Amino acid sequence: MLVFRQLFDPQSSTYTYLLGDRPSGQAVLIDPVFEQVRRDGALVGELGLTLVATLETHVHADHVTGAWLLKQRTGSRILLAKASGAAGADRYLSQDDVVAFGGRRLMVRPTPGHTNGCLTYVLDDRSMAFTGDCLMIRGAGRTDFQGGDAAAMYRSIHEQIFTLPDDCLLYPSHDYRGLTVTSVGEERRFNPRIGGEIGVGDFTGYMKNLGLAHPKLMDVAVPANLRCGQPQLDEAAEGGLSADPAGPEQSWAPLRYSFAGVWEIDPHGLEEHTAAVQILDVREPEEFTGPLGHIKDAILIPLGELAKRAAELSHDRPIVAVCRAGGRSAQATNILQQAGFKNVANLTGGMLRWRAEGHPVEGGSA
Ligand code: FE
Repeated sequence: MLVFRQLFDPQSSTYTYLLGDRPSGQAVLIDPVFEQVRRDGALVGELGLTLVATLETHVHADHVTGAWLLKQRTGSRILLAKASGAAGADRYLSQDDVVAFGGRRLMVRPTPGHTNGCLTYVLDDRSMAFTGDCLMIRGAGRTDFQGGDAAAMYRSIHEQIFTLPDDCLLYPSHDYRGLTVTSVGEERRFNPRIGGEIGVGDFTGYMKNLGLAHPKLMDVAVPANLRCGQPQLDEAAEGGLSADPAGPEQSWAPLRYSFAGVWEIDPHGLEEHTAAVQILDVREPEEFTGPLGHIKDAILIPLGELAKRAAELSHDRPIVAVCRAGGRSAQATNILQQAGFKNVANLTGGMLRWRAEGHPVEGGSA
């Protein structure tokens, strides 16, 4: 069974694709975004997959790739086109190369035009293809910089993409209208730039006159992507990740970041760190003194009062939020982060799991 997920970076309107082979657990990410590495890594983990490689469709001008950072965290290999000119990859791809993940394969088709090093990845059964910034949904990638060439793109689309089966689904790198997927047959008929009887001269004329502004991040993104996303020595190694709504990296205890966007600590991890943290119980008072009991030294602030009472907590020690089953306390971590607390985690599974795993409780019934 194929595991397939389409992920979105709202900042750059980039799609990242996760493809996994269920029997082996091996997975690849196509076009990961630097700022989304924590999210994407969480999803790979929650789905029980191992990331074996990241694949770029091309050297992007509008976002920095997460390839290097994912390699540091997971050991995944970095793959992109030989023609990209990028340094630091583990494997350079060209025509008809095959990228395997478990029992599945992606076939490499060079589709230059947007850049000289653009690739389209075609799944082994030709049911889906990842076209990068070559063919897009009722559009095509721009060809006015980074070695772009409209005539080359016309050939790439006709010879490498329109030759796939009509029902092959196509997934681009971007969409600025929120569209998610198309197919070869419909683009052949309805793509206003290159569908129907549109010839190479029509296409190049269209592409010459798009009148687009240069991407805002181009001067940062292109040099970084030519290093496969490795920050330069004078840049904070993970500075970009602090843009994440769940705050900067946290390492004060063994924490796990969830795809839901919450830092989680398990009962064992909390018991090891109780002396160093503030335990915040966000249940109602009658629950705090009820049959489940509570954790020693826990501070009681019901969730509904937390926003206005957050000042009762100290910024000097990390906070672990606790409730009955781990739901309300997850929301408490969001409230605390919005109130400016940096080191905040949620007790996974709440008091129910804390008790089930035999950790000490004050009050409550056996
Ligand atoms: Fe691009």
